[in-house]
Amino acid sequence: MITLRSKREIELLKQAGHIVYLTHQYLRPFIKAGIKTIELDRLAEEFIRSHDATPSFKGYEGFPYTLCISINDEVVHGFPSDRKLRDGDIISIDIGACYKGYHGDSAWTYTVGNVSDDAKYLLEHTEKALSEGIKQAKVGARIGDIGYAIEQYAIKHNLGVVKELVGHGVGTSVHEAPDVPNYGSKGTGPKIKDGMVIAIEPMLTLGSPDIYILDNEWTVVTEDSSLAAHFEHTIAITNDGVLILTGE
Ligand code: MG
Ligand code: MG
Repeated sequence: MITLRSKREIELLKQAGHIVYLTHQYLRPFIKAGIKTIELDRLAEEFIRSHDATPSFKGYEGFPYTLCISINDEVVHGFPSDRKLRDGDIISIDIGACYKGYHGDSAWTYTVGNVSDDAKYLLEHTEKALSEGIKQAKVGARIGDIGYAIEQYAIKHNLGVVKELVGHGVGTSVHEAPDVPNYGSKGTGPKIKDGMVIAIEPMLTLGSPDIYILDNEWTVVTEDSSLAAHFEHTIAITNDGVLILTGE
């Protein structure tokens, strides 16, 4: 069931989303060669808790950390660890925060030092694919319109679309209906209505979009070890337009 959110609820979702946004900005200067990713996790947890919020992912279906940190060929759900960032890495950081019972969810892929032109290309176009998806999110459109726009953009730029993982509704749970795939056909899927809150999150690859899951049963990596990027915003769609809840 898709829950439509009232103005009051969207205001709370906006506050949760803003904490997620602020956490991304707070982490940014720490994303440098030499830092252990577990340090980023600790910083993020402290920051979120200091804003009277709780990390959405910690304990969610047993996920052990505040952040999902996925480096290079890791697509999503990577574990923070003693692994140190290295010059040339790309690092996807996925952050969820819960404030007064409402969640925000946003992922961003960052560069560490000097990265390859291929990596820059992947990041630039995965972020743009997210924008293409957001453009389709309006009352009266359908969820499939979003996936269609993202997939067509990815195909045009010769990038792989990971299909096993999808965006989702966001509300009093961090993951709720509907699924928001990064592929699809125009005019299909649930109709978008006033008060719908969803996370759109393209996961694109430089090579094959095929994936597998590591032995920790969480971390998703590309089968051919190609680089992957992940950009995600939580948005609210209303009759007045779209609000990017995890945006600036
Ligand atoms: Mg999400
Ligand atoms: Mg996320």
